[in-house]
Amino acid sequence: MAESTIEWLWPEGYTGMAWNPITGCTKVSPGCANCYAETLSIRFKNVHGYGGNYLAPSPDRAPILFHEDRLEQPFHWKKPRCVFVNSVSDLFHEDVPYVWIEKILAVIALNPKHLFLALTKRPERMLAFMEFSMRERFVNLEAKESWPDKYNGAFPWPLPNLWLGTSVENQHFADERLPILREVPAVVRWASVEPLLGPINFTQHFERHDSNGRNVTGLLGLWDESDTTSLDWAVFGGESGAGARPMHPAWLYRGLSAADHAGIPVFFKQWGNARPVISGDTKPAVIVPYSRRLNPGDPPPATMVKVGKKIAGAGIGPDGYTPITKKQYPAGLVSR
Ligand code: SF4
Repeated sequence: MAESTIEWLWPEGYTGMAWNPITGCTKVSPGCANCYAETLSIRFKNVHGYGGNYLAPSPDRAPILFHEDRLEQPFHWKKPRCVFVNSVSDLFHEDVPYVWIEKILAVIALNPKHLFLALTKRPERMLAFMEFSMRERFVNLEAKESWPDKYNGAFPWPLPNLWLGTSVENQHFADERLPILREVPAVVRWASVEPLLGPINFTQHFERHDSNGRNVTGLLGLWDESDTTSLDWAVFGGESGAGARPMHPAWLYRGLSAADHAGIPVFFKQWGNARPVISGDTKPAVIVPYSRRLNPGDPPPATMVKVGKKIAGAGIGPDGYTPITKKQYPAGLVSR
């Protein structure tokens, strides 16, 4: 299996890759408009078993397929991998039966040296799955019965090598999805703010609490590190690929400073296809308004230039903006 080029899959000591035991999905929100899985399936028609039919039976729908032959792949990886689970699907899609997810979690539990990251745009289903009181037993049973030679007794729950996250792209979906994510039992709960398509106020979503439940966001040292309602990691990025929508720098800086204030580790992945204009740029500029309706006090429109994802990178911060070099991870990665 090929290594992944996704930047956040490379914490020190790990090789990044994608694992796709399930493929297929349906679009749920504006962040899906230029879905990477859809683009991939059109370019490589047979890669995930669609035989060119990914778009059937409707333009926004791909049949959900369970590739059981891929299930045992993690057992064969010798060195520690950081694995994106279902990079071309949504593990918690409504058409994915819970028994499939239990099988996948059983494989994850039996492969503690690898780190698995899952993302969903359906956190309500993730929550329903994870909070069910019998789930731990079902996953244990699955592991014990399907791989008895590898099962060494009950494993910790929630699984220490599974990070669960949700994607948000604008204020509406941040307000809808992040509060649900904060209830999900997981060792690391993370927000993927990509593609960032508008300004988001993260104040309530990045709150920190003390042991009495008081809001102590920004008060370093007072946080209860075992607070089960806070987020543990935030990844930010603009959109790449055909038809990518540019990200206003102020949307990004606003998110970064909210995360900094709350002490949430941040990974800035990429500007996307367009980055802020710098001297010497010859390509035509694109003007990106801060919001649809310019409200008093809003930052001015940004001047961006489409140079492609590779050149745009993640380090440029011109025109008075500080360069961004944040590639942080939650402290205490899973022990191997
Ligand atoms: S949830 Fe993800 S995989 Fe599914 S359609 Fe949206 S962007 Fe594509």
